[in-house]
Amino acid sequence: MYSVRQIIKDNWKLFLKKHNVLPYQRYEMEKMLNCSRNSCNSRICSSCGKRYADNWSNQLVFRPRQHVVLTVPSFLRPILRDWNKLSLLMQSSRNFFQCLV
Ligand SMILES: [Zn+2]
Repeated sequence: MYSVRQIIKDNWKLFLKKHNVLPYQRYEMEKMLNCSRNSCNSRICSSCGKRYADNWSNQLVFRPRQHVVLTVPSFLRPILRDWNKLSLLMQSSRNFFQCLV
């Protein structure tokens, strides 16, 4: 029986030959592939990511929050693939909502 981790492990080197992978993507993927008893704490890891999601959802139960979805026009989406610009949008949005409180 195959696990997602095993499928990725079997094909990771071939994938690297055919695709450009950013350093942080490679770091996270290899961290996940080497996860064992010591948690890698990667969100893409099927075991650690599940634990992370479970902890996150448990915190939501005890700390009610409001959830806001920001939708941007399609012509802006390529621009927002730049993490600095996306971060600026998120900070501006957070500041806007904090002004309402
Ligand atoms: Zn892990």
